[in-house]
Amino acid sequence: MKEGFVLSLEKNIEKEQKEVKFWADALAEKIIERKQFHFTDEKTPKLKKWSVKSSSSLSGVLHIGRLSDLVRSEAVFRALEEKKFPAEFIYITEDMDPLRKIPKGVPASFEQYLGMAVSDIPDPFGCHESYDKHHLEEFLKVSEKFLSAKPKVFSMREEYKKGSFSKEILEIVNNSGKVKEVINQFKESKLEDSWNPWKPICENCGKLQTTEVLKIEGSKVEYECKDYEFETTIAKGCGFKGSSDISKANGKLAWKSEWAMQWKRWNVCSEGAGKEYESKNSAFWINAEICEKVLHFPMPEPIFYEHLMIDGVKMSASLGNIVYPKEWLEVSRPEALRLLYLKRLMKTRSFSWQDIPLLELELDRLAEAVSEKKGDEKERLNNERLLHFVSFSKKPITTVKIDYSLALMLAQLFQNNEEALEKLEEMKHISGKEPKKELEAIFERLKLARTFAEKHALPGQKISFAENFDAKSIEPAIAALLSKIGEKISKAESAEEVQTLVFNTAKENNLQPPKLFSALYSTIIAKPQGPKFGSLVFALGKERVAERLKQVKV
Ligand SMILES: [Zn+2]
Ligand SMILES: [Zn+2]
Repeated sequence: MKEGFVLSLEKNIEKEQKEVKFWADALAEKIIERKQFHFTDEKTPKLKKWSVKSSSSLSGVLHIGRLSDLVRSEAVFRALEEKKFPAEFIYITEDMDPLRKIPKGVPASFEQYLGMAVSDIPDPFGCHESYDKHHLEEFLKVSEKFLSAKPKVFSMREEYKKGSFSKEILEIVNNSGKVKEVINQFKESKLEDSWNPWKPICENCGKLQTTEVLKIEGSKVEYECKDYEFETTIAKGCGFKGSSDISKANGKLAWKSEWAMQWKRWNVCSEGAGKEYESKNSAFWINAEICEKVLHFPMPEPIFYEHLMIDGVKMSASLGNIVYPKEWLEVSRPEALRLLYLKRLMKTRSFSWQDIPLLELELDRLAEAVSEKKGDEKERLNNERLLHFVSFSKKPITTVKIDYSLALMLAQLFQNNEEALEKLEEMKHISGKEPKKELEAIFERLKLARTFAEKHALPGQKISFAENFDAKSIEPAIAALLSKIGEKISKAESAEEVQTLVFNTAKENNLQPPKLFSALYSTIIAKPQGPKFGSLVFALGKERVAERLKQVKV
């Protein structure tokens, strides 16, 4: 059994596979050094401004996974900026996406809007001008708390309306043969000859998904509005037959060509995408080829990453395992989530609430390793860069004098901060003469830990002095040692001293220390393990602990 969860946490901190360069730096360098296209031998242009793009659709649930793309793109943007590459950070709202199903909490009457672009649908909650704006405001407000750089926000709907894409749309529509060829390489059932990537919006009912293109001539498109079957719903068409002018851009390109158009429109040099896009027949690579061969613009360098899982499964509203950004901030620093996303891109990340103390400890250790210049040169450099990107650029990580698991213990034993502080002084963790800023950092940590204990601590993490103990379950040889330790504890001056006392007692009696610690925890808090024992003794009061241990008679 483990000596306590502090030690076991340390053992669990992942030993990262150190790359020569931090991934965001390596990617930035690759971008800066690009000379030629990927699919053709065209030369990479020299542009006054490039951008690192992030985007998301606005209909889903706002969980912490939705922040991962932004946090990672931001790192690449910062790396480019520091290397004096002309880049900006942009966020595109995919508000031209049609509504596919009615989310929980939205009235059933919204069925009438299925197939309509989310930017054309009213706000079901009545507080914003449209459906997408309702979600966008919340998303931006939340993401600001986790981001160091503020992205410039663009709406697809607005850009279509403004005619920003008109040139590229015509280029793609006029070359739909080439576009089709690229897509067909990976398709078993080939696209029909009449296929075209343009989808007009029905003039009569305003829906997007329901229009079927009948004919395209030059920039004129004829269509009919028909029912469209989504996976689980049907978008009703109105039967209208009409025609529209593509150059007026009242419609949308298919995703396999629209993405390419976005890259060209915003001079995108890098963008994040889930690892499912890594395979060569994915929409990412198809768009990359369309981008270079049809639009003559170099494909962006991808930031492929693994999606976040919760307790090993995908986060979803129906499974009820959603982790909301707000809940995160109640128990942990935003930098801890940034660390989770930034330390590596491609290993499956599974999160469970119980990881919070570990993540907080990992962040503390990282800051400590950097300030104390720990490790060999490669390791030092990697730690420095990781901490740099994890931190907000204008707000360095504050070091807290007590670690999260100690805070978790104190927060449970003392409801008020003053008492906890007194205890910390007695335990010699602080002198009591710390500057106000340091004390505030301790209070903040206690506050986070208190909420964690209330909301997420497992029974095993809850701490209180055991009302009674089972003397019979303790081996006689160990029981004798417990009362001896009890006698000595009364005289101990510090948590460290208690810790050493237990280790030495185990050694002198040829016992495995974990076995002795486990007996101690069982006697005092009725659990086989617990926080660092020395600290626990002081937090509970050493007289009380000594008294209890002396009661263990052989
Ligand atoms: Zn609203
Ligand atoms: Zn219609």
